[in-house]
Amino acid sequence: MAKRESQTNRKARLVKILDELVSAYPDARVGLDFTTTFELLVATILSAQCTDERVNIVTKTLFKKYHTPQDFLDVPAEELEMDIHSTGFYRNKAKNIRGCCTKLIAEFNSQVPQTLVELITLPGVGRKTANCVLSNCFGIPGITVDTHVTRIMNLLGIVGTDDAVKIEFALMDLVPKERWNAMNHLIITHGRRICIARRPQCGVCPVNSCCPSAS
Ligand code: SF4
Repeated sequence: MAKRESQTNRKARLVKILDELVSAYPDARVGLDFTTTFELLVATILSAQCTDERVNIVTKTLFKKYHTPQDFLDVPAEELEMDIHSTGFYRNKAKNIRGCCTKLIAEFNSQVPQTLVELITLPGVGRKTANCVLSNCFGIPGITVDTHVTRIMNLLGIVGTDDAVKIEFALMDLVPKERWNAMNHLIITHGRRICIARRPQCGVCPVNSCCPSAS
């Protein structure tokens, strides 16, 4: 379906899908817990290859101990590694968090920058993390392409690639800008509740009539 479908039809189909998902998941929201922009930045770095639930368990304690970028640099790297151990890839994540904090202090007056161009200069911060921070903290439209978005947009025949940047730009063309931020939460919620990896629940899926992969 995806290859023969016109861009106009694909756009209309995706808007219909999003409308259905709005009705199905009125409670869709970001899955990571945070109270400040800096906390969301750290939580998003920790969420690589880890569930939001696990990150939330770790950050509940972590954010009581570390409040500012300097706090993450005031302890030995090994101590931070222990504190984030259960999120996996803890050495790399600790290195990225500390590198990120060093740069925030040196170049951004310890504040999280508000542009994608600046955010992606921070260690451990790619377009996904940057868009997540921009959309959830600053209300700046951005499309977050994670594993759920990649999988579901391919299943829906909206895209035919696993390349996150290509998917982001394809969705920017297809979806009105004012819907980008909500779309992130809707698709991720759909991936957690119904279109689950390896066992999608097509029979109860609210968008199965629009999905070429429905079984
Ligand atoms: S119909 Fe099945 S494959 Fe398609 S979006 Fe729904 S759950 Fe996923």
